[in-house]
Amino acid sequence: MPVHAGGCQCGAVRFALDEQPVNVHICHCRMCQKAVGGPFAVICPVQKTAFRVTRGAIAYFHSSDVARRGFCGACGTPLLFDYPDAADVGVLVGALDDPNRAPPENQYGLESRVGWFATMADVPGDLPTYSDDPEMLRRISRSNHQHPDRDTEQWPP
Ligand SMILES: [Zn+2]
Ligand SMILES: [Zn+2]
Repeated sequence: MPVHAGGCQCGAVRFALDEQPVNVHICHCRMCQKAVGGPFAVICPVQKTAFRVTRGAIAYFHSSDVARRGFCGACGTPLLFDYPDAADVGVLVGALDDPNRAPPENQYGLESRVGWFATMADVPGDLPTYSDDPEMLRRISRSNHQHPDRDTEQWPP
């Protein structure tokens, strides 16, 4: 059993990590914000020898001459940050089946951190999701095209 497994939203790409990531970190840099379509990236570095693609193939965008961003070419889910010459590769935490097991230990790119980062956790929210609209939750559940957070026997299903 790998230490972590993960993949994209559609399930065309699946991968496995054979070691626990080291120095999991938040990156606030503007390139990471764009690459993940979010306020920051959470990057989980693992040795390339401990990273295996178990289904499909990862597509890449070279964000500079020295770094590239891995994603699923079918659904667009961001998956990796990679310096091709480095011994390790950065897996994006949201692509892991269990992001809870890779908490960040450090932050980089603080000069680009969004001004509302510190108050984000205090913004009001509802729990569980769509508790105010159970019919919407049923419609989403009945038509869910997201791959489950585990490896599956075959793809497409
Ligand atoms: Zn996909
Ligand atoms: Zn960054």
